[in-house]
Amino acid sequence: MIKIGLEAHIPINRVKTKLFCSCSLPEETSEPNAYTCVTCLGHPGSKPVLNKEAVNHALKLALALNFKVNNEIFFSRKNYFYPDMSKNFQITQYEIPLGTNGFIQLDNKKIGLKRIHLEEDPASFIHPDGMQKSSYVLVDYNRAGMPLCEIVTEAEIESPEEAREFLKKLISIIGYLGIYNPDKNPIKVDANISIKEKEYVKVEIKNISGFKEVERALSYEIDRQKNSKNVEQETRAWDSSKGMTFPLRQKEGEIDYGYIFEGDLVKVEFTKEIMNKAKKEIPELGHEKVKRYLKEYKIDKKDAEVLAQEYRLAVLFEKVAEEVNPVLAARWLRRELLKVLNYNKKNIEELELDESHLIDLLSLVESKQITDTNAKKILEKLIEKPFDVKEYVKKEGLRVIAKRDELDEICNKAINDNKKAIEDYKKGEEKALNFVIGQVMKLTKGQANPDIVRKIILEKIR
Ligand SMILES: [Zn+2]
Repeated sequence: MIKIGLEAHIPINRVKTKLFCSCSLPEETSEPNAYTCVTCLGHPGSKPVLNKEAVNHALKLALALNFKVNNEIFFSRKNYFYPDMSKNFQITQYEIPLGTNGFIQLDNKKIGLKRIHLEEDPASFIHPDGMQKSSYVLVDYNRAGMPLCEIVTEAEIESPEEAREFLKKLISIIGYLGIYNPDKNPIKVDANISIKEKEYVKVEIKNISGFKEVERALSYEIDRQKNSKNVEQETRAWDSSKGMTFPLRQKEGEIDYGYIFEGDLVKVEFTKEIMNKAKKEIPELGHEKVKRYLKEYKIDKKDAEVLAQEYRLAVLFEKVAEEVNPVLAARWLRRELLKVLNYNKKNIEELELDESHLIDLLSLVESKQITDTNAKKILEKLIEKPFDVKEYVKKEGLRVIAKRDELDEICNKAINDNKKAIEDYKKGEEKALNFVIGQVMKLTKGQANPDIVRKIILEKIR
Protein backbone atom coordinates (compact mmCIF):
# COMPACT_ATOMS: atom_id res chain seq x y z
CA MET A 1 0.00 0.00 0.00
CA ILE A 2 1.15 3.49 -0.93
CA LYS A 3 -0.25 6.77 0.36
CA ILE A 4 0.39 9.94 -1.61
CA GLY A 5 -0.82 13.44 -0.86
CA LEU A 6 -0.20 16.42 -3.12
CA GLU A 7 0.01 20.17 -2.68
CA ALA A 8 -0.44 21.95 -6.00
CA HIS A 9 0.49 25.62 -6.39
CA ILE A 10 -1.42 27.19 -9.24
CA PRO A 11 -0.37 30.65 -10.43
CA ILE A 12 -3.54 32.66 -11.08
CA ASN A 13 -1.80 34.58 -13.84
CA ARG A 14 -4.64 35.54 -16.17
CA VAL A 15 -5.21 38.73 -14.17
CA LYS A 16 -4.23 42.32 -14.83
CA THR A 17 -2.35 42.98 -11.60
CA LYS A 18 -0.62 41.26 -8.68
CA LEU A 19 -2.63 40.16 -5.65
CA PHE A 20 -2.12 43.16 -3.37
CA CYS A 21 -0.74 45.98 -5.56
CA SER A 22 -1.25 47.50 -8.99
CA CYS A 23 1.93 46.07 -10.54
CA SER A 24 1.21 44.20 -13.76
CA LEU A 25 2.41 40.64 -14.19
CA PRO A 26 5.90 40.15 -15.63
CA GLU A 27 6.74 38.13 -18.72
CA GLU A 28 9.34 35.41 -18.43
CA THR A 29 11.78 37.60 -20.36
CA SER A 30 11.20 40.72 -18.24
CA GLU A 31 14.11 42.59 -16.65
CA PRO A 32 14.55 41.44 -13.03
CA ASN A 33 12.82 43.66 -10.45
CA ALA A 34 11.13 45.76 -13.15
CA TYR A 35 7.62 44.84 -12.01
CA THR A 36 7.73 46.02 -8.43
CA CYS A 37 6.39 48.76 -6.19
CA VAL A 38 6.58 49.74 -2.53
CA THR A 39 3.88 47.18 -1.65
CA CYS A 40 5.32 44.06 -3.27
CA LEU A 41 8.81 45.11 -2.11
CA GLY A 42 7.46 45.42 1.42
CA HIS A 43 8.46 49.01 2.14
CA PRO A 44 7.41 50.17 5.62
CA GLY A 45 4.07 51.92 5.58
CA SER A 46 2.87 50.41 2.31
CA LYS A 47 -0.57 48.84 2.45
CA PRO A 48 -1.96 45.92 0.48
CA VAL A 49 -5.19 46.27 -1.51
CA LEU A 50 -6.87 43.02 -2.53
CA ASN A 51 -7.25 42.24 -6.26
CA LYS A 52 -10.93 41.28 -6.71
CA GLU A 53 -10.36 39.67 -10.10
CA ALA A 54 -7.89 37.21 -8.54
CA VAL A 55 -10.36 36.43 -5.75
CA ASN A 56 -13.09 35.77 -8.32
CA HIS A 57 -10.79 33.43 -10.28
CA ALA A 58 -9.88 31.55 -7.09
CA LEU A 59 -13.55 31.33 -6.16
CA LYS A 60 -14.41 29.79 -9.55
CA LEU A 61 -11.60 27.27 -9.08
CA ALA A 62 -12.87 26.37 -5.60
CA LEU A 63 -16.41 25.85 -6.92
CA ALA A 64 -15.27 23.84 -9.95
CA LEU A 65 -13.32 21.55 -7.59
CA ASN A 66 -16.45 20.96 -5.48
CA PHE A 67 -15.10 22.78 -2.42
CA LYS A 68 -17.36 23.98 0.34
CA VAL A 69 -16.63 27.70 0.09
CA ASN A 70 -16.53 29.69 3.32
CA ASN A 71 -18.90 32.67 3.26
CA GLU A 72 -16.40 34.95 4.87
CA ILE A 73 -12.65 34.69 4.50
CA PHE A 74 -9.69 36.70 5.73
CA PHE A 75 -5.94 36.76 5.24
CA SER A 76 -3.14 36.03 7.69
CA ARG A 77 0.56 36.81 7.91
CA LYS A 78 2.82 33.80 7.81
CA ASN A 79 5.90 35.06 9.62
CA TYR A 80 9.31 33.94 8.54
CA PHE A 81 12.68 35.49 7.83
CA TYR A 82 13.93 34.76 4.32
CA PRO A 83 14.91 37.10 1.45
CA ASP A 84 12.12 35.83 -0.85
CA MET A 85 9.65 37.86 1.24
CA SER A 86 11.05 41.27 2.06
CA LYS A 87 8.28 42.09 4.57
CA ASN A 88 9.38 39.09 6.67
CA PHE A 89 5.94 37.60 6.24
CA GLN A 90 3.81 36.21 3.44
CA ILE A 91 0.15 37.15 3.16
CA THR A 92 -1.75 33.88 2.94
CA GLN A 93 -4.78 32.16 4.42
CA TYR A 94 -4.56 29.83 7.37
CA GLU A 95 -7.37 29.61 9.90
CA ILE A 96 -10.29 29.86 7.47
CA PRO A 97 -9.25 29.13 3.91
CA LEU A 98 -11.26 29.89 0.79
CA GLY A 99 -12.66 26.35 0.71
CA THR A 100 -12.55 22.96 2.42
CA ASN A 101 -13.70 19.41 1.55
CA GLY A 102 -13.53 19.40 -2.22
CA PHE A 103 -12.87 16.51 -4.56
CA ILE A 104 -11.75 15.54 -8.05
CA GLN A 105 -13.43 12.56 -9.69
CA LEU A 106 -11.03 10.18 -11.42
CA ASP A 107 -12.21 7.33 -13.66
CA ASN A 108 -12.73 4.91 -10.81
CA LYS A 109 -12.43 6.89 -7.61
CA LYS A 110 -12.72 10.24 -5.94
CA ILE A 111 -9.69 12.06 -4.55
CA GLY A 112 -10.57 14.21 -1.55
CA LEU A 113 -9.26 17.77 -1.38
CA LYS A 114 -8.58 19.13 2.10
CA ARG A 115 -8.38 22.81 1.38
CA ILE A 116 -7.81 25.57 -1.15
CA HIS A 117 -6.42 28.96 -0.28
CA LEU A 118 -5.22 32.11 -1.97
CA GLU A 119 -1.82 33.65 -1.21
CA GLU A 120 0.95 35.78 -2.66
CA ASP A 121 3.88 34.16 -4.45
CA PRO A 122 7.34 34.89 -2.96
CA ALA A 123 10.24 36.29 -5.01
CA SER A 124 12.41 33.98 -7.08
CA PHE A 125 16.10 33.30 -6.55
CA ILE A 126 18.68 33.27 -9.28
CA HIS A 127 21.84 31.24 -8.74
CA PRO A 128 24.23 32.64 -11.37
CA ASP A 129 26.49 29.56 -11.40
CA GLY A 130 23.90 26.94 -10.61
CA MET A 131 22.41 25.96 -7.28
CA GLN A 132 25.44 24.10 -5.93
CA LYS A 133 28.32 26.29 -7.15
CA SER A 134 27.11 29.90 -6.81
CA SER A 135 28.79 31.83 -4.03
CA TYR A 136 25.93 34.34 -3.98
CA VAL A 137 22.23 34.47 -4.87
CA LEU A 138 20.28 37.17 -6.69
CA VAL A 139 16.69 37.94 -5.75
CA ASP A 140 14.10 38.88 -8.37
CA TYR A 141 10.94 40.43 -6.90
CA ASN A 142 9.02 40.38 -10.20
CA ARG A 143 7.18 37.27 -9.05
CA ALA A 144 6.67 38.53 -5.49
CA GLY A 145 3.01 39.23 -4.87
CA MET A 146 1.63 37.28 -7.80
CA PRO A 147 -1.64 35.48 -6.97
CA LEU A 148 -1.26 31.79 -6.20
CA CYS A 149 -3.82 29.16 -5.26
CA GLU A 150 -2.69 26.27 -3.13
CA ILE A 151 -4.69 23.04 -3.25
CA VAL A 152 -4.01 20.30 -0.71
CA THR A 153 -5.26 16.75 -1.27
CA GLU A 154 -5.98 14.02 1.24
CA ALA A 155 -3.33 11.24 1.18
CA GLU A 156 -5.66 9.12 -0.95
CA ILE A 157 -3.59 8.76 -4.10
CA GLU A 158 -2.26 5.22 -4.33
CA SER A 159 0.29 5.22 -7.16
CA PRO A 160 2.47 7.57 -9.24
CA GLU A 161 0.20 6.90 -12.26
CA GLU A 162 -2.82 7.93 -10.23
CA ALA A 163 -1.02 11.13 -9.17
CA ARG A 164 -0.48 11.89 -12.84
CA GLU A 165 -4.11 11.19 -13.70
CA PHE A 166 -5.17 13.47 -10.85
CA LEU A 167 -2.96 16.34 -12.01
CA LYS A 168 -4.12 15.91 -15.60
CA LYS A 169 -7.73 16.29 -14.46
CA LEU A 170 -6.81 19.30 -12.33
CA ILE A 171 -4.97 21.01 -15.18
CA SER A 172 -7.88 20.34 -17.54
CA ILE A 173 -10.31 22.06 -15.15
CA ILE A 174 -7.97 25.03 -14.67
CA GLY A 175 -7.67 25.29 -18.46
CA TYR A 176 -11.44 25.44 -18.85
CA LEU A 177 -11.71 28.23 -16.30
CA GLY A 178 -9.28 30.45 -18.22
CA ILE A 179 -7.50 31.58 -15.05
CA TYR A 180 -4.04 30.26 -15.83
CA ASN A 181 -1.55 30.67 -18.68
CA PRO A 182 0.87 27.72 -18.61
CA ASP A 183 3.41 29.51 -20.81
CA LYS A 184 4.10 32.11 -18.13
CA ASN A 185 4.58 30.15 -14.90
CA PRO A 186 4.72 26.42 -14.20
CA ILE A 187 2.41 24.68 -11.73
CA LYS A 188 4.58 23.45 -8.87
CA VAL A 189 3.75 20.45 -6.77
CA ASP A 190 4.92 19.24 -3.36
CA ALA A 191 4.22 15.57 -2.71
CA ASN A 192 4.20 13.55 0.48
CA ILE A 193 4.56 9.83 0.23
CA SER A 194 4.62 6.90 2.63
CA ILE A 195 4.49 3.13 2.17
CA LYS A 196 3.09 0.34 4.32
CA GLU A 197 6.37 -1.63 4.36
CA LYS A 198 7.98 1.27 6.26
CA GLU A 199 5.01 1.90 8.56
CA TYR A 200 3.89 4.94 6.62
CA VAL A 201 6.77 7.22 7.64
CA LYS A 202 6.04 10.35 5.65
CA VAL A 203 8.60 11.88 3.29
CA GLU A 204 7.90 15.18 1.59
CA ILE A 205 9.27 16.05 -1.86
CA LYS A 206 9.37 19.77 -2.60
CA ASN A 207 8.99 21.84 -5.73
CA ILE A 208 8.32 19.45 -8.60
CA SER A 209 7.36 21.10 -11.92
CA GLY A 210 5.04 19.35 -14.37
CA PHE A 211 2.87 16.26 -13.94
CA LYS A 212 5.23 13.88 -15.74
CA GLU A 213 7.97 14.92 -13.31
CA VAL A 214 5.64 14.26 -10.36
CA GLU A 215 5.12 10.71 -11.60
CA ARG A 216 8.86 10.20 -12.03
CA ALA A 217 9.76 11.67 -8.64
CA LEU A 218 7.17 9.50 -6.88
CA SER A 219 8.30 6.33 -8.66
CA TYR A 220 11.89 7.04 -7.67
CA GLU A 221 10.92 7.75 -4.08
CA ILE A 222 8.87 4.53 -3.73
CA ASP A 223 11.84 2.48 -4.90
CA ARG A 224 14.19 4.37 -2.61
CA GLN A 225 11.97 3.80 0.41
CA LYS A 226 11.47 0.11 -0.39
CA ASN A 227 15.23 -0.40 -0.65
CA SER A 228 16.15 1.70 2.41
CA LYS A 229 16.75 0.00 5.76
CA ASN A 230 15.32 2.96 7.59
CA VAL A 231 13.02 5.62 6.20
CA GLU A 232 13.22 8.88 8.10
CA GLN A 233 10.58 11.53 8.23
CA GLU A 234 12.18 14.29 6.16
CA THR A 235 11.90 16.80 3.35
CA ARG A 236 13.62 16.00 0.07
CA ALA A 237 14.02 17.78 -3.26
CA TRP A 238 13.63 16.37 -6.78
CA ASP A 239 16.52 16.74 -9.22
CA SER A 240 14.91 16.09 -12.60
CA SER A 241 18.20 16.02 -14.55
CA LYS A 242 19.62 13.27 -12.31
CA GLY A 243 16.23 11.60 -11.85
CA MET A 244 16.56 11.35 -8.07
CA THR A 245 15.51 12.94 -4.79
CA PHE A 246 17.98 14.28 -2.22
CA PRO A 247 17.59 15.47 1.40
CA LEU A 248 16.75 19.14 2.09
CA ARG A 249 16.86 21.27 5.24
CA GLN A 250 14.59 20.26 8.09
CA LYS A 251 11.47 22.29 7.69
CA GLU A 252 9.77 24.42 10.33
CA GLY A 253 6.49 23.07 11.62
CA GLU A 254 3.37 25.14 10.99
CA ILE A 255 3.46 26.29 14.61
CA ASP A 256 6.79 28.08 14.10
CA TYR A 257 5.28 30.49 11.61
CA GLY A 258 3.21 32.24 14.28
CA TYR A 259 0.34 33.13 12.00
CA ILE A 260 -1.41 36.39 12.85
CA PHE A 261 -4.42 38.11 11.31
CA GLU A 262 -3.54 40.57 8.49
CA GLY A 263 -5.04 43.77 9.85
CA ASP A 264 -4.33 45.83 6.73
CA LEU A 265 -6.92 43.88 4.75
CA VAL A 266 -10.65 43.68 5.36
CA LYS A 267 -12.58 40.43 5.48
CA VAL A 268 -13.98 39.18 2.19
CA GLU A 269 -17.62 38.25 2.20
CA PHE A 270 -19.06 35.99 -0.49
CA THR A 271 -22.66 37.08 -0.85
CA LYS A 272 -25.22 34.98 -2.70
CA GLU A 273 -24.89 37.30 -5.71
CA ILE A 274 -21.10 36.88 -5.85
CA MET A 275 -21.42 33.10 -5.55
CA ASN A 276 -24.09 32.89 -8.25
CA LYS A 277 -22.11 35.10 -10.59
CA ALA A 278 -19.02 32.92 -10.14
CA LYS A 279 -21.06 29.74 -10.69
CA LYS A 280 -22.45 31.16 -13.92
CA GLU A 281 -18.95 31.92 -15.16
CA ILE A 282 -17.89 28.27 -14.88
CA PRO A 283 -18.28 26.68 -18.32
CA GLU A 284 -19.34 23.10 -18.98
CA LEU A 285 -16.26 21.19 -17.79
CA GLY A 286 -14.36 18.34 -19.46
CA HIS A 287 -16.01 15.42 -17.65
CA GLU A 288 -19.45 16.86 -18.41
CA LYS A 289 -18.52 17.25 -22.05
CA VAL A 290 -17.40 13.61 -22.28
CA LYS A 291 -20.83 12.45 -21.10
CA ARG A 292 -22.60 14.74 -23.54
CA TYR A 293 -20.38 13.76 -26.49
CA LEU A 294 -21.13 10.08 -25.95
CA LYS A 295 -24.85 10.70 -25.76
CA GLU A 296 -25.24 13.43 -28.36
CA TYR A 297 -22.59 12.58 -30.93
CA LYS A 298 -22.18 8.84 -30.24
CA ILE A 299 -18.42 9.12 -30.72
CA ASP A 300 -15.74 6.75 -29.41
CA LYS A 301 -15.18 7.12 -25.63
CA LYS A 302 -11.43 7.56 -25.90
CA ASP A 303 -11.92 10.20 -28.63
CA ALA A 304 -14.38 12.01 -26.36
CA GLU A 305 -11.96 11.98 -23.42
CA VAL A 306 -9.02 13.28 -25.44
CA LEU A 307 -11.08 16.00 -27.15
CA ALA A 308 -12.64 17.19 -23.89
CA GLN A 309 -9.32 17.32 -22.07
CA GLU A 310 -8.43 20.74 -23.45
CA TYR A 311 -10.94 23.55 -23.64
CA ARG A 312 -9.84 24.96 -26.99
CA LEU A 313 -9.81 21.54 -28.65
CA ALA A 314 -13.28 20.75 -27.29
CA VAL A 315 -14.71 24.02 -28.59
CA LEU A 316 -13.09 23.47 -31.98
CA PHE A 317 -14.51 19.95 -32.18
CA GLU A 318 -18.02 21.11 -31.30
CA LYS A 319 -17.95 23.73 -34.05
CA VAL A 320 -16.70 21.24 -36.64
CA ALA A 321 -19.22 18.60 -35.52
CA GLU A 322 -22.06 20.99 -36.35
CA GLU A 323 -21.16 20.75 -40.05
CA VAL A 324 -19.42 17.41 -40.46
CA ASN A 325 -20.29 13.90 -39.26
CA PRO A 326 -19.21 14.02 -35.56
CA VAL A 327 -17.66 10.54 -35.62
CA LEU A 328 -15.48 11.51 -38.58
CA ALA A 329 -14.68 14.90 -37.03
CA ALA A 330 -13.73 13.30 -33.70
CA ARG A 331 -11.47 10.79 -35.38
CA TRP A 332 -9.68 13.41 -37.47
CA LEU A 333 -9.25 15.95 -34.68
CA ARG A 334 -8.01 13.43 -32.15
CA ARG A 335 -5.81 11.29 -34.35
CA GLU A 336 -4.65 13.44 -37.29
CA LEU A 337 -4.79 17.00 -35.98
CA LEU A 338 -3.10 16.15 -32.67
CA LYS A 339 -0.54 13.98 -34.44
CA VAL A 340 0.47 16.77 -36.81
CA LEU A 341 0.53 19.31 -33.97
CA ASN A 342 2.70 17.01 -31.93
CA TYR A 343 5.05 16.47 -34.86
CA ASN A 344 5.39 20.23 -35.29
CA LYS A 345 5.92 20.64 -31.52
CA LYS A 346 2.97 22.99 -31.31
CA ASN A 347 0.23 22.99 -28.73
CA ILE A 348 -3.44 23.58 -29.37
CA GLU A 349 -3.17 27.20 -28.18
CA GLU A 350 -0.72 27.94 -30.99
CA LEU A 351 -3.05 26.61 -33.66
CA GLU A 352 -3.62 29.28 -36.33
CA LEU A 353 -6.29 27.51 -38.36
CA ASP A 354 -9.89 27.71 -37.22
CA GLU A 355 -13.01 25.59 -37.59
CA SER A 356 -13.71 26.86 -41.13
CA HIS A 357 -10.54 25.22 -42.47
CA LEU A 358 -11.35 21.94 -40.79
CA ILE A 359 -14.97 22.03 -41.93
CA ASP A 360 -13.87 22.62 -45.56
CA LEU A 361 -11.30 19.86 -45.37
CA LEU A 362 -13.43 17.26 -43.61
CA SER A 363 -16.48 17.94 -45.78
CA LEU A 364 -14.35 16.94 -48.77
CA VAL A 365 -13.24 13.80 -46.91
CA GLU A 366 -16.79 12.99 -45.87
CA SER A 367 -18.13 13.25 -49.41
CA LYS A 368 -15.11 11.25 -50.62
CA GLN A 369 -14.05 14.07 -52.94
CA ILE A 370 -10.48 13.84 -51.72
CA THR A 371 -8.57 10.80 -50.48
CA ASP A 372 -7.53 10.42 -46.84
CA THR A 373 -3.88 10.57 -47.88
CA ASN A 374 -4.31 13.90 -49.64
CA ALA A 375 -6.43 15.24 -46.77
CA LYS A 376 -3.62 14.40 -44.34
CA LYS A 377 -1.11 16.20 -46.55
CA ILE A 378 -3.35 19.26 -46.70
CA LEU A 379 -3.73 19.21 -42.93
CA GLU A 380 0.05 19.19 -42.52
CA LYS A 381 0.29 22.29 -44.72
CA LEU A 382 -2.61 23.97 -42.89
CA ILE A 383 -0.80 23.67 -39.57
CA GLU A 384 2.18 25.51 -41.04
CA LYS A 385 -0.01 28.29 -42.39
CA PRO A 386 -3.78 28.32 -42.95
CA PHE A 387 -5.13 28.83 -46.51
CA ASP A 388 -8.32 28.35 -48.49
CA VAL A 389 -8.75 24.58 -48.65
CA LYS A 390 -11.28 24.50 -51.51
CA GLU A 391 -9.13 26.76 -53.68
CA TYR A 392 -6.07 24.67 -52.94
CA VAL A 393 -7.78 21.39 -53.88
CA LYS A 394 -9.00 22.95 -57.13
CA LYS A 395 -5.64 24.49 -58.00
CA GLU A 396 -3.67 21.30 -57.27
CA GLY A 397 -6.25 19.11 -59.00
CA LEU A 398 -6.68 16.87 -55.96
CA ARG A 399 -10.34 16.03 -56.40
CA VAL A 400 -10.84 12.28 -56.64
CA ILE A 401 -11.44 11.05 -60.19
CA ALA A 402 -14.84 9.54 -59.89
CA LYS A 403 -15.57 8.99 -63.57
CA ARG A 404 -15.15 5.38 -64.43
CA ASP A 405 -14.02 5.91 -68.06
CA GLU A 406 -11.18 8.20 -67.01
CA LEU A 407 -9.97 5.68 -64.49
CA ASP A 408 -10.45 2.78 -66.90
CA GLU A 409 -8.10 4.39 -69.36
CA ILE A 410 -5.42 5.08 -66.76
CA CYS A 411 -5.67 1.54 -65.36
CA ASN A 412 -5.29 0.09 -68.87
CA LYS A 413 -2.14 2.11 -69.32
CA ALA A 414 -0.72 0.99 -65.99
CA ILE A 415 -1.45 -2.68 -66.77
CA ASN A 416 0.17 -2.44 -70.24
CA ASP A 417 3.22 -0.61 -68.88
CA ASN A 418 3.75 -3.14 -66.10
CA LYS A 419 3.17 -6.55 -67.68
CA LYS A 420 5.90 -8.15 -65.60
CA ALA A 421 4.30 -7.04 -62.35
CA ILE A 422 0.93 -8.40 -63.45
CA GLU A 423 2.55 -11.75 -64.29
CA ASP A 424 4.23 -11.81 -60.86
CA TYR A 425 0.90 -11.11 -59.19
CA LYS A 426 -0.74 -13.95 -61.06
CA LYS A 427 2.03 -16.22 -59.79
CA GLY A 428 1.00 -15.28 -56.25
CA GLU A 429 3.09 -12.24 -55.46
CA GLU A 430 0.60 -9.95 -53.66
CA LYS A 431 3.01 -7.01 -53.53
CA ALA A 432 3.23 -6.81 -57.30
CA LEU A 433 -0.40 -5.71 -57.51
CA ASN A 434 0.21 -2.92 -55.01
CA PHE A 435 3.00 -1.71 -57.26
CA VAL A 436 0.60 -1.39 -60.20
CA ILE A 437 -2.00 0.36 -58.02
CA GLY A 438 0.78 2.72 -56.94
CA GLN A 439 1.50 3.51 -60.61
CA VAL A 440 -2.16 4.47 -61.13
CA MET A 441 -2.06 6.68 -58.03
CA LYS A 442 1.04 8.35 -59.44
CA LEU A 443 -0.58 8.91 -62.85
CA THR A 444 -3.64 10.45 -61.17
CA LYS A 445 -1.56 12.50 -58.69
CA GLY A 446 -3.29 10.67 -55.88
CA GLN A 447 -6.73 11.65 -57.10
CA ALA A 448 -8.02 8.11 -57.46
CA ASN A 449 -9.55 6.02 -54.73
CA PRO A 450 -7.07 3.13 -54.27
CA ASP A 451 -9.80 0.63 -53.35
CA ILE A 452 -11.65 1.32 -56.58
CA VAL A 453 -8.41 1.14 -58.58
CA ARG A 454 -7.70 -2.29 -57.09
CA LYS A 455 -11.18 -3.47 -58.09
CA ILE A 456 -10.85 -2.21 -61.64
CA ILE A 457 -7.42 -3.77 -62.15
CA LEU A 458 -8.56 -7.11 -60.76
CA GLU A 459 -11.56 -7.11 -63.07
CA LYS A 460 -9.33 -6.34 -66.03
CA ILE A 461 -6.68 -9.00 -65.45
CA ARG A 462 -9.01 -11.78 -64.34
ZN1 LIG B 1 3.79 45.88 -6.67
